[in-house]
Amino acid sequence: MTRGDMMARVAVAAALAMLAGLFRAAAERPNILVIVADDLGYADVGFQGCKEIPTPHLDRLARSGIRCTDGYVSHPFCSPTRAGLMTGRYQQRFGHENNPAWLPNDLIAGLPLGETTLPQLLKEAGYVTGMVGKWHLGAHPQFHPCARGFDEYFGLRGGGHDYFEHNLFKEDPEKAEATEYKIPLHRNREPVEESEYLTDAFGREAAAFVARHQGETWFLYLAFNAPHSPLQVPQAYLDRVKGIASEKRRTYAAMICAMDDAIGRTLGAMQASGKEKDTLVFFFSDNGGPVAVTEASNAPLRGAKGDVFEGGIRVPFIVSWPARVKPGEYRRPVCSIDVLATSVAVGGAPCPEKPMDGVNIVPFLTGEREGDPHARLFWRTGGGATYAVREGDLKLTCPKEGRPQLFDLSADIGETKDLSASLPEKMAALMEAYRAWDGELIQPLFQSPRSGKKGKTKK
Ligand code: CA
Repeated sequence: MTRGDMMARVAVAAALAMLAGLFRAAAERPNILVIVADDLGYADVGFQGCKEIPTPHLDRLARSGIRCTDGYVSHPFCSPTRAGLMTGRYQQRFGHENNPAWLPNDLIAGLPLGETTLPQLLKEAGYVTGMVGKWHLGAHPQFHPCARGFDEYFGLRGGGHDYFEHNLFKEDPEKAEATEYKIPLHRNREPVEESEYLTDAFGREAAAFVARHQGETWFLYLAFNAPHSPLQVPQAYLDRVKGIASEKRRTYAAMICAMDDAIGRTLGAMQASGKEKDTLVFFFSDNGGPVAVTEASNAPLRGAKGDVFEGGIRVPFIVSWPARVKPGEYRRPVCSIDVLATSVAVGGAPCPEKPMDGVNIVPFLTGEREGDPHARLFWRTGGGATYAVREGDLKLTCPKEGRPQLFDLSADIGETKDLSASLPEKMAALMEAYRAWDGELIQPLFQSPRSGKKGKTKK
């Protein structure tokens, strides 16, 4: 063999190895399923220790993966959390700090078009992208899920919906806010008739998406509005939680049972497609339980939806990927903004042009990387009306009409003992960290409906 022959062989072998590597990388790319519950309490699912609400499918999902004890969302209420989830960035960086009113002519109240979304990035990497459920990122057609990266969409576009009556009102921009919960659902960009209980319909549609796209690599965002109000549920689900005395909590609990069934149907479709092990699944709630509205329980956490106490922002949180991540428990803080960074990393998708705040948490969950994924996590509502910082186990919490306090979550998960006077240096350091982060943010671009504040009319 001449030297030239040998070099040619080496080159061919190297090219083949590279191609094999590429194929392997493509084969190992997981499907990605992001399941979000709406206003689910920290203590209201079986895998979190709840005994009175049966959630067998979620419990099985939890056993197949990692239960993150310190899983957070980036906001204590609906729309801003979803904006952070879709962009992998703190939503206050781009002014999405409130819920958008349902105003189909409003060009401001929605996820700003300058932000890149997770489905847009995954689409670039060849993923089929689908969404089923609650959008809540703007009413104007420019904000529609199909305009923001989703190939397929089925669901409600506002902040909530009647669970039985889906077709009561034609869309009328003049009466927009009053009709948000009763306008027709959309399939892609078209209004669609629906007769099933809404949560059942979402299970049907999510399972159908999985079945329809087996053989492709897909991303599905399954965003329930359950168990958000209105408290409505078929009798069959109520029968499963007969032991709960309070009618309000019983109804809320039955809505969680319906959601668990819908998740079971989706996971069943995944199993049937043979892809259960090769699918990365996230599950969490978009904020803590609204205790006064639904009698949700966030025990042992303090506070509820809307608060920067743990009860508003720490949520049931599962990450499952049987092919890569061994089941177990993870106790360091992770956040919903990590979903994008994790998904683009494992999906071989490009990173967004703007810097991400989230990190790829898979190496932390597998033990390849040690330490906290985030040096600090931050929260801010109302342009600074409330805020919080977590660093290690210390948390600075400044609640509504309150003063900043310091808690050690490792000893005081219920945030009852203010340590600000006994640890003044730690307090000052966290305060400084908050101010530095706050300095990178902008003021809210729009106000929540019924907030009493005037919305901003121009950028
Ligand atoms: Ca919510």
